[in-house]
Amino acid sequence: MDIPKLLFNLREEASCPVCQDILRDPRYLPGLHSFCLNCLINWHRASGGEVNLRCPKCQGRSRVPASGDLKDLPTSFFLSGFIDALAIKESDKTHVTCGNCDKKSSKASYYCFECCKFYCDECLNGHNIIRSYKDHRVLAVKDFQEKDYEVVVKRPVFCSRKGHEKEELTFFCKICPENSVCQTCVISDHAGHKVPLIQEEAEAQKIELAGLTETPKKTLNAKMKMVTQIDEEYASLFNEAKTC
Ligand SMILES: [Zn+2]
Ligand SMILES: [Zn+2]
Ligand SMILES: [Zn+2]
Ligand SMILES: [Zn+2]
Ligand SMILES: [Zn+2]
Ligand SMILES: [Zn+2]
Repeated sequence: MDIPKLLFNLREEASCPVCQDILRDPRYLPGLHSFCLNCLINWHRASGGEVNLRCPKCQGRSRVPASGDLKDLPTSFFLSGFIDALAIKESDKTHVTCGNCDKKSSKASYYCFECCKFYCDECLNGHNIIRSYKDHRVLAVKDFQEKDYEVVVKRPVFCSRKGHEKEELTFFCKICPENSVCQTCVISDHAGHKVPLIQEEAEAQKIELAGLTETPKKTLNAKMKMVTQIDEEYASLFNEAKTC
């Protein structure tokens, strides 16, 4: 993984195209563009709240979830590492929010690599007296080095279902609405569904999306050419008229 490049592009990966801030409670639309849930709700309301949802970034259309609630759109869990890394990177400008008391502290903040959470000074004391947390690796946000960022970005995401806490989300169900699933879920709940690996699906969707924007681009270019041609014809006609 090219960490300097990744750190450089972090803002693009982990910020919301609507509010330009670090993504909060993100949901993604087909085409894998992610937005803060709240930004998406406001955007959809402002655009008339129809059954179709227009992507604020690529204008691609998709259906509002059957429940009518945008909260039920799939979660961008795959971005959680990027979001934390961006918060760490920009912590000198905007203080990180403690994952325990939800306060933004101006004093030192810490990141626990096992809890995957930020802690303020006070909450870290609480964290450290919990016996089962005693082996957790904690680092002050200001001391982050490239290799630490790598750990945050690469951390696996686990299934949120009870009993699946140790199962990594590695598959993508093309049929179910909440479509990031673990191995055990695939066997128990997704029999007969098409379930590729998440990474493969992301690549495939990227390619598909590039193809989708290709055709309108070509049409636009052809039209632009026509416009220039008409302009030229007009100019020569105008000149002829003048000579006459
Ligand atoms: Zn936003
Ligand atoms: Zn989009
Ligand atoms: Zn706290
Ligand atoms: Zn911890
Ligand atoms: Zn599971
Ligand atoms: Zn399924």
